[in-house]
Amino acid sequence: TKWVYVFGDGRAEGRAGDKNLLGGKGANLAEMCSLGLPVPPGFTITTELCAHYYANGRSYPDELKAQVEAALQEVGRIAGRRFGDPEQPLLVSVRSGARASMPGMMDTVLNLGLNDSTVEAVAAETGDARFAYDSYRRFIQMYSNVVLGLDHDLFEEILEEEKERLGYEVDTEFSAEDWQNVIALYKRGIEAELDGPFPQDPNEQLWGAIGAVFASWMNPRAITYRKLHDIPESWGTAVNVQAMVFGNRGEDSATGVAFTRNPSTGEKALYGEFLVNAQGEDVVAGIRTPQNITEMARLEAGSDKPSLEKLMPEAFAAFIDIAGKLEKHYRDMQDLEFTIERGKLWMLQTRSGKRTAKAALKVAVDMANEGLITQEEAVVRIDAASLDQLLHPTIDPKAPRDVIGIGLPASPGAATGEIVFSSEAAEEARSEGRKVILVRVETSPEDIHGMHAAEGILTTRGGMTSHAAVVARGMGKPCVSGAGSLRVDHKAGTLIAMGQSFKAGDIITIDGASGQVLKGAVPMLQPELSGDFSTIMSWADKTRRMKVRANAETPSDARTARSFGAEGIGLCRTEHMFFDDGRILAMREMILADTEADRRTALSKLLPMQRSDFVKIFEVMAGLPVTIRLLDPPLHEFLPKTEEEIAEVASAMGVSADKLRQRTEALHEFNPMLGHRGCRLAVSYPEIAEMQARAIFEAAAEAAAKSGAPVVPEVMVPLVGMLTELNFVKARIDTVAKEVMSERGIEIDYLVGTMIELPRAALRADEIAGSAEFFSFGTNDLTQTTFGISRDDAASFLEAYRARGIIEQDPFVSLDVDGVGELVRIASEKGRKVRADIKLGICGEHGGDPASIRFCETVGLDYVSCSPFRVPIARLAAAQAAI
Ligand code: PEP
Ligand code: MG
Repeated sequence: TKWVYVFGDGRAEGRAGDKNLLGGKGANLAEMCSLGLPVPPGFTITTELCAHYYANGRSYPDELKAQVEAALQEVGRIAGRRFGDPEQPLLVSVRSGARASMPGMMDTVLNLGLNDSTVEAVAAETGDARFAYDSYRRFIQMYSNVVLGLDHDLFEEILEEEKERLGYEVDTEFSAEDWQNVIALYKRGIEAELDGPFPQDPNEQLWGAIGAVFASWMNPRAITYRKLHDIPESWGTAVNVQAMVFGNRGEDSATGVAFTRNPSTGEKALYGEFLVNAQGEDVVAGIRTPQNITEMARLEAGSDKPSLEKLMPEAFAAFIDIAGKLEKHYRDMQDLEFTIERGKLWMLQTRSGKRTAKAALKVAVDMANEGLITQEEAVVRIDAASLDQLLHPTIDPKAPRDVIGIGLPASPGAATGEIVFSSEAAEEARSEGRKVILVRVETSPEDIHGMHAAEGILTTRGGMTSHAAVVARGMGKPCVSGAGSLRVDHKAGTLIAMGQSFKAGDIITIDGASGQVLKGAVPMLQPELSGDFSTIMSWADKTRRMKVRANAETPSDARTARSFGAEGIGLCRTEHMFFDDGRILAMREMILADTEADRRTALSKLLPMQRSDFVKIFEVMAGLPVTIRLLDPPLHEFLPKTEEEIAEVASAMGVSADKLRQRTEALHEFNPMLGHRGCRLAVSYPEIAEMQARAIFEAAAEAAAKSGAPVVPEVMVPLVGMLTELNFVKARIDTVAKEVMSERGIEIDYLVGTMIELPRAALRADEIAGSAEFFSFGTNDLTQTTFGISRDDAASFLEAYRARGIIEQDPFVSLDVDGVGELVRIASEKGRKVRADIKLGICGEHGGDPASIRFCETVGLDYVSCSPFRVPIARLAAAQAAI
């Protein structure tokens, strides 16, 4: 087997298409090499080897050693040096590179190949002993941490002590001799911690680093990251070994990262940062605050540190040229890493850049308009679920702002919450339902869980490409980074801002758009959905086949739904119309009524409420289809619980509290989700269905008279399992329809259909379709009843199922295509066989989930229906499903 792929000198054994084998970094290094771009030579050990490594007790195949040696020789030949050579040593970097990028999750070792003898060769060759020993001590530090598992602090302490002893302020004051001293101290420290000395043999170093990269695939933060991003463990990582180039060779050297377009706004302007005389990870680590690459960005940021454009115009021009080429070649915004060694530019990485949802829209629309991609490609490129980010609130511009600090606008959106200083505190507060802002000096990959739990993230150090910024953008969470005027005092547990001291629990607001940090809570505005958003939506609407409706039960929800582009209401849960304080009393009277007469009294109070709501909803929807579902109240959601509630209902009904308590107890169910709900209520008490049908038809008549346009209500019967149930309820509906029509002397067109949310209904769908003019798949209940898992109690054990790999995803979030989906497919086919033009839709939560929407397209449903805020996501996902 070929485990090793070499690249360098304008040639490469791999290509960009080999991501699965070579990982993202390796495949793109190979591609850049083939494009003739300046890439230090190197080789990639494949992801297949990672799989082999784990399948064989963390060991390598026999032939690997020879392949690595041959590759090292080839790299040395291209670089004109030899690994371990005492005169012209080849130094390498060793980096991970998975198929999907996992920024900062796995380990890297730089300057590998340095030892007591090669360091002198480097000093002699470069004539720069300071640089040589600085690189050596960096290597010892990194290697000891990543490969030997020693703590960072060991080295930090030695460094700090030396600095103090010598009276230095910054690392750059260290002379070659000083670094030699530090190195001796490092080595002594290592020997004290480990049994042996720091490894001097470059080959031992190399295999140590390769092993560490493969091992890092299974480190806890990588495992967490994969879980959060649905990256399979089986993919594995590749290892990239590459000749070192040095950004720390003096004032004419630098290292940086850049995006070909602004990753926050999507604006077509190269955006990036760099550090002079620095090495690789320094930029991402956020240790020094970096400088802008372009002059324009520098001016915008109001920075007084010179841009790369001014400082190194030739390297800058070469970089701009390459950035443009790469964007054209990959036809997407690129995220680049580069190093300048003594004025010469080297490319170290290119990949599709992570971006905010807003930037993704702008880049896609711009690129389609530039002719770089098609409109369909633009539609496909947007992560439908990420549109959610755009629906986040922003700070009301008219609101007074009590600014206590300012940092970089690292990730858009605004958030308010209590200050917490640790990820643990963030998680704890979240589990108690409190909203928090995670405040840190700088985040590290260990903070992922805390960032997830927080509403927003604030750091006092680091740039736009720092860990906090990159991860927050990926999560769609507001983030302000590098707010240097703020100070976190961990000892005192306070945040010091403009002379004021804030402690954990104090409320602040961060504005990811301006970088401001504000005291207290601040009024927010809902976002405007125009510009690029509506352009992509219009392209999506041209492409999709399925309609998108909303689940809405109030006129205000209906208005929101329409503003998001809903093409009808797919589910109006009439019981939700009574959640309101003033109304739940009448609902409770109805449910608790002992006799038909009492029930009719209660129903007569409900009728006008329902009718006026329906009229308003019909008006808002202006002729678009509206599906109204008859009452489906799981009793436990509606029965009075407290003594006050019981007393209140008792007095409204004119009975004693005791009597009412007895009645409540009599109605108590052990399995309310499988209890006296849905059409079962209508079978027991037909007058309920009759009242609702009357409200619907009277409202339709009224709305039609007002608007002059016909209203065609779709009346839906819930929780049907048998044709006979449906027929029983349908007969009542039809009777009331006739009555209302004759009372009003008009014709009303209407449909009667059913939910399919029980396995029996799906299996007998052909029979049921004889009476039902439409089916709406209630996949919440269908999932519950297919799995036999309670909707209300699943959360307590589904997490264990996920953690143990028994299920991949919560079936209540993303449709179980194999099981529940099979029932949907069966019912659709059977329904169509009997009634060719039967309308088919879905109205469970899955109607707003992109993966489930893809499935709905394959079954050929006519529409999906979801909550108003997910309508844009569903429109886009439906388009993507159709492409
Ligand atoms: C369903 O069961 O999928 C559904 C939409 O109805 P509800 O959630 O109201 O039970
Ligand atoms: Mg249901």
